[in-house]
Amino acid sequence: MSGDLIDVLIPVPLLENFTYKVPKEYKNKKFKKGLRLKVPFGNRIVTGIFWAYSDSIKSKRASYKYIKEILDEDPLLDETLLDLADWASRYYHYPLGEVISYFFPPTLRKGAEARFRRSTYWKVTDKGDFFDLSIFKRAPKQREALELLRERGDMSQQSLKAYGISAPILNNLAKKELIKKLSIEQAPIKSVGSETTEQKKLTREQRESIEVISKELSSNKIFLINGVTGSGKTEVYLRCIKQLVDQGKQALVLIPEIGLAPQAERRFKEMFGDRVASFHSAKNERERLDVWLGAQRGLYDIVIGTRSSVFIPMKNLGVIVVDEEHDASFKQADRFRYSARDIALYRAKLNRIPTLLASATPSVESMSNALNGKYKLLTLKHRATGADLPTFIPLDLKGKVLEEGFSEQLLEEISNELNKKNQVLVFLNRRGFACSLICKSCGWVSYCDRCDAHMTLHSNPIQLHCHHCEHKKPLYTECPSCKHNEFESYGLGTERIETYLKKKFNQFPVLRIDSDSTRKKNAFTNYLKVIEEGEPLILVGTQMLAKGHHFPDVTLVAILDADSGIFSADFRGSERVAQLITQVSGRAGREKKPGKVILQTYCQEHPQMEELLKGDYESFVKKIIKDRASTKSPPFSFQIKLQAESFNGLQSRDFLVTCLDYLNNTQHLSKGMKTIGPLPSLMEKKSGVYRWEVSFFSSSRKSLHNLADHLQSFLYLPKQTRKVRWSIDVDPISTV
Ligand code: ADP
Ligand code: ZN
Ligand code: ZN
Repeated sequence: MSGDLIDVLIPVPLLENFTYKVPKEYKNKKFKKGLRLKVPFGNRIVTGIFWAYSDSIKSKRASYKYIKEILDEDPLLDETLLDLADWASRYYHYPLGEVISYFFPPTLRKGAEARFRRSTYWKVTDKGDFFDLSIFKRAPKQREALELLRERGDMSQQSLKAYGISAPILNNLAKKELIKKLSIEQAPIKSVGSETTEQKKLTREQRESIEVISKELSSNKIFLINGVTGSGKTEVYLRCIKQLVDQGKQALVLIPEIGLAPQAERRFKEMFGDRVASFHSAKNERERLDVWLGAQRGLYDIVIGTRSSVFIPMKNLGVIVVDEEHDASFKQADRFRYSARDIALYRAKLNRIPTLLASATPSVESMSNALNGKYKLLTLKHRATGADLPTFIPLDLKGKVLEEGFSEQLLEEISNELNKKNQVLVFLNRRGFACSLICKSCGWVSYCDRCDAHMTLHSNPIQLHCHHCEHKKPLYTECPSCKHNEFESYGLGTERIETYLKKKFNQFPVLRIDSDSTRKKNAFTNYLKVIEEGEPLILVGTQMLAKGHHFPDVTLVAILDADSGIFSADFRGSERVAQLITQVSGRAGREKKPGKVILQTYCQEHPQMEELLKGDYESFVKKIIKDRASTKSPPFSFQIKLQAESFNGLQSRDFLVTCLDYLNNTQHLSKGMKTIGPLPSLMEKKSGVYRWEVSFFSSSRKSLHNLADHLQSFLYLPKQTRKVRWSIDVDPISTV
């Protein structure tokens, strides 16, 4: 009988499903798609997912193993999420067994039971109800405990402790069978109506945007809220969500990074009280499971989270918001290379609900979809607080003497602002002390042995650090090449600027905010608190400071090296720079005090710099869209990238040549397809391996995906995988 065999998904990088036998005790069980199972796999026991009953042809073979256990009564994911997983696996050309594991939090992947944290409760037994309390003469505490439980009914061990009743006392009573222990799931209580009633008066632009969206809250339209920094985009989507929550629906809000979670959570809690939960990697596994279950059972109205939250099940999802939709961190850079924004859009389509994309610097893809009418564009040109947008001032560095990267003029401006009791933000997108170390006598440079990159000098602790492979080395005492011992540190990093500014402006605090200084738990939140106090200070930071934060007292943003990025080899480079500069500039002058952005540059006359200096992102992005249209680059064509890596560059290249030969011989490289490569990746050597790539472009997504299907089945042939590791990247966003 075919019902005896089932197909199970296993989280391994292989394309096929695995077939298992159902043991007798489960013969009458009706398996539902998505059920978690424990199954033997190799010499391990793993968590698999029931996907389908096996077809009868397969069942003639008898060597299948039995499943061990069924973990859930009912599938934890609903039909649409299972369909979403199936689609994502096909779209990103990544094995379904792996893809579906992203839909579960770590504990459930490991096979834990899908239940909330349990607490111990105590209950009086029948015997305990009628027990004569006077017998307890010599055990007053036991008497007290029993009396209390009789009076108050079941109590948690924790609240009994508050009455001074300890566990041994309770255990003694339990031994006498007067009380018994219960283990009860602690689901979050769905509170209602705790929101504040105080509401901001909306600006005209906000009101109009909300009106447009409100009319289509039950559609599956996509809205792009393109609003300048501080225009109150958050307020717009908060109000839209409110309308849906009032109808009993839930919202999923994606944010690009964990640093923004506390601020977002606070804004939401002001409106929705406790019905808000957040999901990100700073939470421990238990906390993540509780939030996941709360969302799945509909106990939270709003879940805010980073990239992987797009997979969280929601009982009655009404809208998905992707804030800072342009942000590169929505795209996973390895293994399953999905874009959380694009998955969100497809999920919303399956659920027939609207999606709100928000950004002050929309991505080229989204902006072009808005311009061609696929998305509904809502524009907010003014700041909600009435503040003006900051003015952009270029500072020509040609012929100027710099002190640790600062021109005299910039130092003066910084000093002026501080004396006016304002805050200053100095932006440099490079952490560490210096870019590299150079031998003064022979010119030797501190390259990383494992990457085509310099090792960065760090000052605390003093060591060399490769930012590409995380390799660390102690400082050299002598030059490995000429044995002399005098070095020069070359180039600027945030640590060096911090040191310099602390000396230069010693009466003011200098806070450095980058991924090194905020590694410790709560470090970032603590910095934010200091900034919020509003005292004059200098912030030095990387792109971490550019994202979404509201710093009301920053009046000057100084961009130390505006030229970096302008000359990028990546066709997406100019988009990236414009976003970064616009975002970091947006931290200036957000409230009462006007803001100013100073850009130090050597190439003021470069057309792109001229465009940037206008401070008009929208016109900038429209120009990029035009360029892309004329060169037929994405989004005017679609791209899939195949990358190969191995310990030898030629081997990586040859592998790609073999793949191309296969596609040519099987006539899968159709006419409209453009192929670029094989070429070494921008950084060919990384972490000791040599990377080459080939990209396929086509104006037809369908033919490109057909090609990738064939390519995938070729790549997964067992003989391919030995010496070369490969990856398929659909809609890649970087060339590094
Ligand atoms: P964005 O998300 O566009 O960057 P926010 O929603 O964070 O902007 O709003 C920026 C600041 O303006 C916040 O301090 C917010 O409280 C405030 N704000 C938003 N809407 C209004 C309004 N209608 N009136 C006054 N202040 C507002
Ligand atoms: Zn030397
Ligand atoms: Zn390295």
